[in-house]
Amino acid sequence: MTDPRFDVAIVGYGPTGATLALLLGMQGLRVAVVEREPDLLPLPRAVHFDGEVMRLFETAGLADALASRIRPSGGMRYVNTAGQVMLERPPAVGAGAHGWANNYLFHQPDLEYALREAAERHAGVQVLRAHEVKALEQDPGGVRLAVARLADGAALTLRAGYVVGCCGARSIVRQAIGSDHDDLGLHQPWLVVDVVLERDVALPEQTVQYCDPARPATFVKVTGRRRRWEIMLMPGDVAEDMTRPESVWRLLAPWLRPGDARIERGALYTFHSLVATRWRDRRLLIAGDAAHQTPPFLGQGMCAGVRDAANLAWKLARVARGHAPDALLDTYQSERAAHARVFIETAVRLGNIIQTTDPAVAAARDRRFLESGKEEIANLSPPLGPGFHAGTAPAGEVFPQPRLADGRRLDAAIGGYRFALLAEPALLDPALGARCAASGIATVPADGEAAARLAQTGARALLLRPDRYVYGGARDGAALRALLEPLFTRAEVLQ
Ligand SMILES: Cc1cc2nc3c(=O)[nH]c(=O)nc-3n(C[C@H](O)[C@H](O)[C@H](O)COP(=O)(O)OP(=O)(O)OC[C@H]3O[C@@H](n4cnc5c(N)ncnc54)[C@H](O)[C@@H]3O)c2cc1C
Repeated sequence: MTDPRFDVAIVGYGPTGATLALLLGMQGLRVAVVEREPDLLPLPRAVHFDGEVMRLFETAGLADALASRIRPSGGMRYVNTAGQVMLERPPAVGAGAHGWANNYLFHQPDLEYALREAAERHAGVQVLRAHEVKALEQDPGGVRLAVARLADGAALTLRAGYVVGCCGARSIVRQAIGSDHDDLGLHQPWLVVDVVLERDVALPEQTVQYCDPARPATFVKVTGRRRRWEIMLMPGDVAEDMTRPESVWRLLAPWLRPGDARIERGALYTFHSLVATRWRDRRLLIAGDAAHQTPPFLGQGMCAGVRDAANLAWKLARVARGHAPDALLDTYQSERAAHARVFIETAVRLGNIIQTTDPAVAAARDRRFLESGKEEIANLSPPLGPGFHAGTAPAGEVFPQPRLADGRRLDAAIGGYRFALLAEPALLDPALGARCAASGIATVPADGEAAARLAQTGARALLLRPDRYVYGGARDGAALRALLEPLFTRAEVLQ
């Protein structure tokens, strides 16, 4: 560590911390990451991410590194004990709204390796592995982090303008902020088993949520020969016995026999549904599992952490450079908490469907779905809560990634993690173009599929934020000037 003073210190180098480090490094910030573990954890938790998250990885320059290591999802089904499908997420065929497949499966260590390698290519990013943050103290000028080197207990002090706790469910930064939790009610232990097939076995192509009241379970065809089972603990199960190989094989018996596969691990997790009530106290912020936890029935916990990082990184860069007032950071929780909560509430609803253990309740559930017909699970795209956007739709909504007439994806034309004005060509006069260029806003004439997508919003021009959420829209030149003028007068906010 050459200089212990940083713009931002990140506590925790999981998927949230690594994405944030990469996005801050891309913007030229001096970033310290402190991670307790000496190496990448080989044990995956997340297996799925969605098309919007893939698009954020594209913005972060990772699309090529990931493309050969992930695969579009074959879909997901919630089935009852008779094998009838109650809910279904269709297979991810072709490009979805974000220019990528709607849903992907992946091996978490592959993703984390790619994120870390890309983050550490930026000269400003320094990573302290096998170090633990022990205490935090903030003053008006910054934060002092007391760090211990785990090999020998040596003490180290870092100083940073801001600290983001990406340190998971037991976050020390959340404790320092003094945040409480909103509890959305679901807390349930499950056994998670990852295997590598050693011979071909007939298993579903789709993710299957077995809504069996005698033993709810989930099956996931991950990537290559990796397969995942998540199996709910039932009353009477002895937690310590559940991860023994003989218990695991007994539970996998409906699908696999010993010899079919090598068990990589069996581990117990308690799925929670929580949203922290306070994500910021002055120079301390939290992101990812430190700020919210969801049961994995939609595969969205890590996705929410990646979205947190994409929402926060451009704001932090502008505040750290002194281009935006510190109050911009207050829009992080107000925007993201509302968004994350929609996913958690939906996952809790799905959890209540699969976790039913009363046979009579399960029978009533099955009848209800058979009468009303199979329900489709669409990718959720809720608006942000109030914050740095004009307030009324499409402001606060994520804008999709269509192709332009020349075949490029929208984000390729935007060219990075920056503001962009997508507008009908008639509204993009040279004077406006020059002012946008001076303010660091990319201008993209809407043609091809992008013109149709723009028209669907009811606007003729949209200002998109670096995270691809809409700042605001305009229906004519006068409205566009009214939208942009206040931003041009403090143009540095945009850069
Ligand atoms: C069984 C299961 C399946 C899941 N499936 C999916 C899925 O398919 N899709 C999905 O999107 N999500 C899924 N999730 C959720 C996902 O795994 C988490 O949301 C995600 O890993 C959270 O990432 P994070 O970086 O915020 O926190 P973590 O991954 O928990 O990382 C926190 C890091 O901080 C470090 N740390 C903590 N305290 C300190 C300290 N004081 N000093 C230094 N370092 C510290 C830790 O060592 C750790 O590396 C699943 C979760 C489970 C349990």
